[in-house]
Amino acid sequence: MKAMMLRGPNLPFEMTTVPDPVAGPGEAVARVITCGSGLTIQHIKAGRRKATFPRIIGHEITGEIVAVGAGVSGLKAGDGVTAYYYLNCGHCRYCLSNLEPLCLNTGGNVGMECDGGYAEYIKLPAHIFLKYPDTLDYKKHPAEMGVITDALATPFKVLRRAEVKGGDTVAVIGAGGGVGIHQLMMAKWANARVIAVDIAKEKFEACRKAGADDCVDARSNDVTGALMDLTKGRGVDVVIDYVCTTATLEAGAKALGRRGRLVVLGGAAKPFQASGIDMLTKEQSLLGSRYVTRAEILTCFDLVARGDVWPLVTDVRPLAEAEALHERVERGEVTGRAALRVS
Ligand SMILES: [Zn+2]
Repeated sequence: MKAMMLRGPNLPFEMTTVPDPVAGPGEAVARVITCGSGLTIQHIKAGRRKATFPRIIGHEITGEIVAVGAGVSGLKAGDGVTAYYYLNCGHCRYCLSNLEPLCLNTGGNVGMECDGGYAEYIKLPAHIFLKYPDTLDYKKHPAEMGVITDALATPFKVLRRAEVKGGDTVAVIGAGGGVGIHQLMMAKWANARVIAVDIAKEKFEACRKAGADDCVDARSNDVTGALMDLTKGRGVDVVIDYVCTTATLEAGAKALGRRGRLVVLGGAAKPFQASGIDMLTKEQSLLGSRYVTRAEILTCFDLVARGDVWPLVTDVRPLAEAEALHERVERGEVTGRAALRVS
């Protein structure tokens, strides 16, 4: 099969031919139709996130099952599928508690510790594939459906993690990014007042379209001060930080109001200081949010199927153009998600 290979960090993609994957016991193989191209996987290419090489990256796939190995039930050739991002075991205490991202026996991630979607075929443990419901037309919108498992489901999970309620004020730091913009969309869907914070002013129009009521330019503003002004000194109910440098986390923590919640996820996830006295006297919470459960993905399938939200994919190119597309992702030029069309 044709595959877009990475031989090591900081190297260009190499279009190569490798043997077609064969489904062993408990495994399945899918023909890849599209695969999302987000910053998470660009971090691997740029050497900012560890992976083993050579590697075929990519996890936000839409595909069709072509073969299943011995002992596999619940999947058959022709099924439209996407993939769960974590190679969770399915059997440990956390997997059995509907907390699969906290799996004790994790095998890593699709497209990092095993080959992913930048190839004509992908082989995964069968339980990692998720079948699309009949209500989603994955053939007509493969790129959009393929990014639900991460770009859309991750923000949905954050709403639950931070217990976002209608009427809450929610600030999203890194709102112009591929997941950040979907977070605006989901927070709006949850009837929150939504504030976008980003350094990329050119993304603000898209942020407003996605649901932001206000936008804060973090390059020319003191973020804490701006959030305090926008809430008339009360502070925001929820800060969701997709950048997670020490500076953004501390600015977010200081902007929390009473019962405020700061959600740490993705990005740099650097150490930071928060005020113990504010946490105590204002009953604030610091929360981490790690990926999503399968149940959350299934709920997002339903939200998309009924038209409540729709994944924002603005740049879809053939697999051969992976390098050019990743240059755009690296420079932060893509609005929403980009994706590669594989077949
Ligand atoms: Zn597990």
